[in-house]
Amino acid sequence: MYNQHSILNTDQSAFEFEMHSTRTLSYAGEKNTVSSVRSTNKITHRYTVQATINLAGQVVGPVFVCLQEKNGVMDECVRKNLFRADNIVTNCSASGKLTTLLIRFWIDNCLLPSIRHSRTLLLSDSWKGQGDKHGLYDKIKGLKHLEIPFKTTSKVQPLDVFFYRQWKVIPRRLHDRILLDGMDIDATERNNILKLQSLVHNQISSSIFTSMIKYAWFKAGYLDTHPGPFKTVTEVCFGFDDIECHIRDCNLCSFIRCSHCGHVLCVEHFFNNYHFH
Ligand SMILES: [Zn+2]
Ligand SMILES: [Zn+2]
Repeated sequence: MYNQHSILNTDQSAFEFEMHSTRTLSYAGEKNTVSSVRSTNKITHRYTVQATINLAGQVVGPVFVCLQEKNGVMDECVRKNLFRADNIVTNCSASGKLTTLLIRFWIDNCLLPSIRHSRTLLLSDSWKGQGDKHGLYDKIKGLKHLEIPFKTTSKVQPLDVFFYRQWKVIPRRLHDRILLDGMDIDATERNNILKLQSLVHNQISSSIFTSMIKYAWFKAGYLDTHPGPFKTVTEVCFGFDDIECHIRDCNLCSFIRCSHCGHVLCVEHFFNNYHFH
């Protein structure tokens, strides 16, 4: 028997930005939305995030962010000035997608440091180029890797059926706000991507979302009992009537309610000032 904290699901999700000009920018969290409107004179910036959850309803370890960099290499000076936080691990590739080498990097830097139990079950889909045939998971003591057949992925993966839709709520809302208010924030800038993903990971790690994450497992068919009523990211973080930011002397327009402290904050105090718990 596995402990519910040691049954893990990990998956990757793509984030794409499409540049229409230097000032306007449209955003689509789903790959399909973007490919249907793609044309030759637009540049797509893509990055991939990989998060891990457990059956107990927790986010496990840091989130891995794979940025898209020319030739798959990051300049030394860019690397030196990269935004850093304990809950994100960063690397890059030419496509912004993960390669076998980067999966190995993820295993070493995200998975292994997060395994706390002698017996761990890891569930993931069969990503191209990184299946069990590469033996990536063979030498990890006590780890059993279960690969979900490619075509069934969207139906049986907890992360896929529900979790990433929740993960993308805050990035979408932030992006919409930046556009609507004409804010001087470049959402495609590396450090803004990393800061945002760190904040999303931090917000979703709040215990208020435990049942929501358990529900993802239930919906995918891995839990027999419904975890009971729960609140979504939209309800917790954006379901409020406050017009102004709660920070003293700040009268900027409210943007988000923090899932940890319950304060309603403006973009400045949440994003720019990095509201992290
Ligand atoms: Zn807070
Ligand atoms: Zn404020």
